[in-house]
Amino acid sequence: MSKMKAAVCYEAGKPLVIEEVEIDPPKKGEVKVKLAATAICHSDIHVFKGEIPWQIPCIGGHESAGYVAEVGEGVTGFREGDPVVVSLLVSCGRCRYCLTGYTHMCSATWPMDTESRVRNRKGQSLAPCFKTGTFAEYTVVDQSQLVKAPKDMPLDRAALLSCGVITGFGAVVNRAKVPPMSSCVIIGAGGVGLNAVQGAAISGAYPVIVVDILDEKLRKAKEFGATHTVNASKEDAVEAVKKLTGGIGADYAFVTVGSVNAIQQALMLTGPRGTTVIVGLPRFGDMLTIPPFIFIKDERTLTGSYMGTTQLHTEIPKLIELYQAGILKLDELITNRYPLEKINEAIAEVEKGKVLRNVIMFT
Ligand SMILES: [Zn+2]
Ligand SMILES: [Zn+2]
Repeated sequence: MSKMKAAVCYEAGKPLVIEEVEIDPPKKGEVKVKLAATAICHSDIHVFKGEIPWQIPCIGGHESAGYVAEVGEGVTGFREGDPVVVSLLVSCGRCRYCLTGYTHMCSATWPMDTESRVRNRKGQSLAPCFKTGTFAEYTVVDQSQLVKAPKDMPLDRAALLSCGVITGFGAVVNRAKVPPMSSCVIIGAGGVGLNAVQGAAISGAYPVIVVDILDEKLRKAKEFGATHTVNASKEDAVEAVKKLTGGIGADYAFVTVGSVNAIQQALMLTGPRGTTVIVGLPRFGDMLTIPPFIFIKDERTLTGSYMGTTQLHTEIPKLIELYQAGILKLDELITNRYPLEKINEAIAEVEKGKVLRNVIMFT
């Protein structure tokens, strides 16, 4: 057992408490990681506000990278000091989903579903959110949650790959499998939306239309490969997208903001046989109201993508290659860096809606 600093959520809606806690060594198949960087994702904020039900007290954070500090029994793929990307995706390699190429949907149960390797000074167990809990100097995760990063890969940028990047990029590339020259519309030009934009641009889609309500974000979307932008606070998005797609509507729509209104609107931005993919997390318990007729006569499809339908161990190395080749943008996604002590400030900035990614840096 050893001591470390962590940001603990004791009550929904209240600031996180930065305090010294204790962490156990890794058990069989587990790895202890010394964190280098953890980005703040909107899913963390949903948990902290009580909008995604989670066991409390807990430690948030799941978009991370760091160095292997210690390996548990039976771990052969990692050694102390290895730089690694840390993901919330756990895979057993044996269940129906793992064996059919959908490791992100692994159906196995894990000790970390119910246990924690971390507790506070009173001995109270601190749940690791999404089996990761990386708003802390160390975490213990299953070995399947780690992907090795090259030694020259900056870990603050590598961290982004494990959630924000794969969620947006993978929704386009893996879930929708967007073919070249098809038209795409992406709703929301935030940290996830811009990665959907890069996914569409790299896939050869045209036009790549981005809808948002802030001109500043729409300008950024152009840097990431958007060919056209629509400010939905100034013009009618349905009309604008129709005009840009030969009067038909888009072949694909990706909703990267967690809003049921945006999902409902996205369906109307697609044309006949169009596909809408829900990417951003709405509030738990939100409901959609959709006229079923649009699915029959026009054969529209509505689906979702979980973590970009990503096969972590093949795709993270590929995305690192794309970054190193100058094709995938990561540097431009980081708005600010903060020490763990200032995490509440960093979260408050994210909530204002103008930040792409704020990253907590560990020394
Ligand atoms: Zn996330
Ligand atoms: Zn599995």
